[in-house]
Amino acid sequence: MSKPERVDPRPPELLAPWHTAERAALQAEARAFAHEVVMPLADSLDPQKSEMPRSLIDQMAAKGWFGITIPAEHGGLGLGVFEYCLVSEELARAWLSVGSILARGQGLGTQTLDPERRHGLLQKSARGRWIGSIALSEPTAGSDLAGVQTRAVREGDTWVLTGTKRWAGFAKAADFIEVLARTRDPEPGEPRSAGLEPFLVLKEPGSFPPGMTGRVIDKIGYHGFLTFELDLDGVRVPESDRLTGLYGDQGADADAGGFASVQRGLNIARVHTAARAVGVARAALEDTQVYLQEREQFGHPIGDFQALRFALADMAADVAQARAFWNQVAHLLDAGEPAESESAMVKLVATELAVRVTNQAMQLHGGNGYTTERRVERYWRDARLTTIFEGTSEIQRRIISDRMLPRA
Ligand SMILES: Cc1cc2nc3c(=O)[nH]c(=O)nc-3n(C[C@H](O)[C@H](O)[C@H](O)COP(=O)(O)OP(=O)(O)OC[C@H]3O[C@@H](n4cnc5c(N)ncnc54)[C@H](O)[C@@H]3O)c2cc1C
Repeated sequence: MSKPERVDPRPPELLAPWHTAERAALQAEARAFAHEVVMPLADSLDPQKSEMPRSLIDQMAAKGWFGITIPAEHGGLGLGVFEYCLVSEELARAWLSVGSILARGQGLGTQTLDPERRHGLLQKSARGRWIGSIALSEPTAGSDLAGVQTRAVREGDTWVLTGTKRWAGFAKAADFIEVLARTRDPEPGEPRSAGLEPFLVLKEPGSFPPGMTGRVIDKIGYHGFLTFELDLDGVRVPESDRLTGLYGDQGADADAGGFASVQRGLNIARVHTAARAVGVARAALEDTQVYLQEREQFGHPIGDFQALRFALADMAADVAQARAFWNQVAHLLDAGEPAESESAMVKLVATELAVRVTNQAMQLHGGNGYTTERRVERYWRDARLTTIFEGTSEIQRRIISDRMLPRA
């Protein structure tokens, strides 16, 4: 197993004004944890398409990482998007899904109207005892979430949910599932998303609640999470579990209602995906750096061949550029800037780059890259997902261009 690259030894503030000594220490802690704890688990569980163990989640919870962005008065670390992404990049360097699971804390599923209950849920979320699954997508609604067809019908103080959800990651192991459902059809003149509301479906970890069944979708990567298609046939949710927004209490404008908070949540998810993609690309880069020195052909380490040296240089420059970009966008979000275009841009740039870099890494590993004996195939499979989930590259381009050009 290659050694983890040392965190840059130069003073953090020299690298960027926002890269403080505290952040460098957090990064070093996450890097060591990823290497020593996550990587061996990924190596043994990924080939079996297994889910990450609860013991791993508990270890991360003990470090406070499920509450990085939860304010200290609710039991979190009270840090920002920057630290959340910093830790996630390191975890994703070892296994993408472990970088992702942190997003299932951070106050997800706590947006209830009752402030006391909300406080209690935030505390549980920060401790890693309130880990959720997100069920927005459906067989016929992916990029176009306004097309969600799952119905929520009110019966007294209860909502009855019926429909099919697709791609709900971690749905069986989770403490709750956040389900997006339609409570009414839009009125003429309203946006198509009018009437869509999130509901908190409570459940026991390891099973589905009454009225819900799940089928595992057989994916080609992103193991560590089982991903489900869910059938909801009369799932009953009390009115008190209808949520006020899609995302959790994630810092600066935690109390911003409705659209602003949803929008902020989406922007955070995009920069978080960029940081995870950088982690995967970095993994491919670091393994390739080692391989070019180990493998010999024509009587030389293949790293002596200029074409391969230059390819490695391009990969390194790409990764450094994407990391600097997510650092900047996370900094903007922590400063309370909407950074909507930049969040879409960094998601687009970093994920496309991760696909390119992992592909090149496989090429530079030759035949050995195309086996399950090396980790590069895992990076390649995982990177491929990053341009698809959390909004495809095309959807990011749409967001960016819509802010640049008027629509007819
Ligand atoms: C492994 C995995 C895990 C996931 N986890 C979750 C989860 O936990 N919870 C959840 O709710 N969802 C999850 N998703 C769903 C994911 O967010 C969607 O797959 C994604 O948003 C794309 O939707 P789609 O698959 O329906 O593709 P489609 O929307 O059908 O898109 C197909 C193609 O058309 C393009 N396209 C669509 N509309 C436009 C347009 N207007 N302009 C240009 N191009 C367009 C797309 O970019 C894409 O290339 C997950 C998906 C995967 C694969």
